[in-house]
Amino acid sequence: MKLTSKLSEIKYEIRGRVMVEAEKYAAAGADILPLHIGNPGRFGFEPEPEVLEATRNLVTSSVSYSSSRGIPELIERIQARLNRFGVNGVSHEHIFVGNGVSELIMLACQSTFDVGDEVLVPAPDYPLWTAAIKLAGAKPVYYVCDEQEDWQPSMSDLKSKVNSKTKAIVIINPNNPTGAVYPRTHLDELAKFISEHDLVAMTDEIYNQLLFDDAEFTPFAKVLNEVDPNGVCISFDGISKNGFAAGFRCGWMSLSGDLSNSQEYLRGLNMLAALRLCPNVMAMHSACAFLDSDCSTKLPPAIFDRLLQQRDQLCAGLEAVEHLTFVKPKGAFYVFPRLDLKKMIVEADEDFAMALVREKGILTVPGTAFNCVDREHLRLVFLPEVKVLSQVAEKTSALIQSLLVSDT
Ligand code: PLP
Repeated sequence: MKLTSKLSEIKYEIRGRVMVEAEKYAAAGADILPLHIGNPGRFGFEPEPEVLEATRNLVTSSVSYSSSRGIPELIERIQARLNRFGVNGVSHEHIFVGNGVSELIMLACQSTFDVGDEVLVPAPDYPLWTAAIKLAGAKPVYYVCDEQEDWQPSMSDLKSKVNSKTKAIVIINPNNPTGAVYPRTHLDELAKFISEHDLVAMTDEIYNQLLFDDAEFTPFAKVLNEVDPNGVCISFDGISKNGFAAGFRCGWMSLSGDLSNSQEYLRGLNMLAALRLCPNVMAMHSACAFLDSDCSTKLPPAIFDRLLQQRDQLCAGLEAVEHLTFVKPKGAFYVFPRLDLKKMIVEADEDFAMALVREKGILTVPGTAFNCVDREHLRLVFLPEVKVLSQVAEKTSALIQSLLVSDT
């Protein structure tokens, strides 16, 4: 069979070549530590008991298809969450539930972009965005998130990349893979830029409750509304990360701003939602239970403490590693260190990640998988327990030492 030309350029390297290599080693009996995927359930994180209980109890009432946009009781709760966030005036018709945010990103890109449109995408990005934009026939144009500025989006780079073909901008906050959380002042600047160039804002906020230190999350729909009440924002949220229920597959998107001339557009979105019939009904009931619980406003303290300790353990270890630097993450559950590869005999991030799997049994994702402009980064998740993470820095350091270019 021949692969279609539309798929030939699409990549999702988070589950790419390095992971395939790790699977080969694991099949041969090697012990592989999976630090490549943000899958909390894999490390013993679970939804709260009341969410699991509600899910079990509602199995039999979940056997029918629901309406395509989602069950009304969930849409009401999503609207209430938006109000709590200070995002007011989003009507039920502008909320869509999906089988994870992933499905909705695809739907939104298919309905928003035409062939030839350009979309500003952060570099590094979460690679589904690049894939979805390309599949919709549009062109991702990467804007720099500046490591020297704690990975904040560079306004000067954005200004140099916008043109008459630019239709939209993707903002991922809190960010995967960098762990950056954007302060209000920076969001204001982004909103002014978006308003000035009449762009659609697509804001992926799936990690919005996973915050550390002094980080505060501000929903971009609220910021844009204050800067330009007509500005259109499509926001994405869900239970995969905040609710530790990634396998349930439930996320939602909400459209805010002036949609008075968007009837045709909304018809298209509704059609796409109808083509996949409906989201998983059982998962929507779980999402209702999640949104009814305290854990939808704040991480349960025990989970927060666990994550914080794990982040601090991994960061403290990495601080002692020579030829590696990083910005301490303030959100999500990833660290995105830079390797000084010029000092080593490997050329690129992927070579290093391969060596880390083969020689130390640690599976990570190279930065290029996230469309990072250089080839010098790795993404590690800090979901495993402290005692497991305690060995990561030491092993990484040992690998770096073994790969150093000799001075002679
Ligand atoms: N957006 C970002 C930034 C992510 O990191 C992920 C998953 O890792 C997703 C979306 C996908 O979310 P979901 O599980 O809701 O499909």
